[in-house]
Amino acid sequence: MKKKKLGEELLSKQGKPFSVPLAVCADEVTAFCNGYMSFLNRAKTEREASKEAVSILSERGFQCFDPDKAYRPGDRVYWLNHKKSVIAAVIGTKPFEEGFLITAAHVDSPRLDVKPKPLYEETNLAFLKTHYYGGIKKYQWTTIPLAIHGTVVLKDGREITVCIGEDTSDPVFYITDLLPHLARKAQGSKTMGEIISGEQLNIILGSQPYEGEEKDAVKINMLRILNERYGMIEDDFISAELEVVPAYQARYIGLDRSFIGAYGQDDRVCGYTALMALAEIESPSKTCVVVLADKEEIGSVGNTGLCSDMLKNFISLLCAPHHVAPERVYLSSKCLSADVNVAYDPNFPEVYERRNAAYLNCGPTLSKYTGSGGKGGSNDASAEYLGELRRVFDEGKVPWQIGELGKVDEGGGGTVARYVSSLGIETIDIGVGLLSMHSPYELSSCYDVYALYSAISCFFSKL
Ligand code: MN
Ligand code: MN
Repeated sequence: MKKKKLGEELLSKQGKPFSVPLAVCADEVTAFCNGYMSFLNRAKTEREASKEAVSILSERGFQCFDPDKAYRPGDRVYWLNHKKSVIAAVIGTKPFEEGFLITAAHVDSPRLDVKPKPLYEETNLAFLKTHYYGGIKKYQWTTIPLAIHGTVVLKDGREITVCIGEDTSDPVFYITDLLPHLARKAQGSKTMGEIISGEQLNIILGSQPYEGEEKDAVKINMLRILNERYGMIEDDFISAELEVVPAYQARYIGLDRSFIGAYGQDDRVCGYTALMALAEIESPSKTCVVVLADKEEIGSVGNTGLCSDMLKNFISLLCAPHHVAPERVYLSSKCLSADVNVAYDPNFPEVYERRNAAYLNCGPTLSKYTGSGGKGGSNDASAEYLGELRRVFDEGKVPWQIGELGKVDEGGGGTVARYVSSLGIETIDIGVGLLSMHSPYELSSCYDVYALYSAISCFFSKL
């Protein structure tokens, strides 16, 4: 009798599915997930996600950021950075020097980018060449319906928005794979990365020739269609960003509909939950900020990724009219680096360390560190910050778990955490555990998605 009581007191309650009942009924989880899934369907690229974010924020009273203005408590602003990343803030009642509460997620996802000279014809078939973006298993992108999204800047400067393959009346696109009957030698002994090579990721565009043309008649016909629809000529591919993404819609998965299947949940799940948590805040004590960054999947590079000074610049410009040094803000700010994690998959037990793995339906996963080869490239969050978050999440009845990304030396990965913490900001990784991460159709748990939203709301209101 005494023993059991001591165990209850001392043993961890981590990793128990649905261990903390959410403070809402299942209907609210479903309503939230419906909104999330519709966001995923409208936002399959970083540009589309940024545009959707701006539209969600504008509907909820956020104004376009004006660096000349001195913002007051309760003011709501957003800044769209080169159309591919967004920073939004609700100004708090406390002085800026007391620090900001920042949640940073990313809105780019692994995909296939169309090359600058992509179009060619071979054996009367027209193809588009692609260059993959981010970490993919290339073979997963063959024999699935694909859509083309993006922007083309024509020679005369006009910007054309392209989206083919999402409307049910649209055609979709396709990459072939070899039939098993002939694959024994050609693919059978190859490694995962070689089964389909980067230069085999060629999109079938069409096969009908343009009548009267002798050479490249199919290619010319494809250009005719593009020209009629978008005013494009072949060289306009040079000034284009066309992204090939799965044409799938987000769907509930499972008899009990407890999962969401969709492309791009890494990391729009954290982007959307952070955005919704921010949008509902009225008058916070500390200034609350959401960053939706681009280029995380290729190292946070460029002027829209978090390696740039985008966050620094925003904080500087926000502080300048109040004569507050941004360094004062960094020193006392706190950040959730919100990015997906891996959930334990019983089909592949060999890559997980069960005692430190994250599990589906146990809430969002906090990771003290990420990285590979001995925490390499990781932000290692402080015990003090973890201690504070533990207490606040438990008090707020937010389900959460601690987790590592797989076994030591099995692989690994990184997030934007290291770039935010390089400013001196206390930073920790948190995110929904996914199955089949970086695949064309990733799986999340509805409970975990809603629990992450609760966690970010709790962070903004209680820290
Ligand atoms: Mn990610
Ligand atoms: Mn990723």
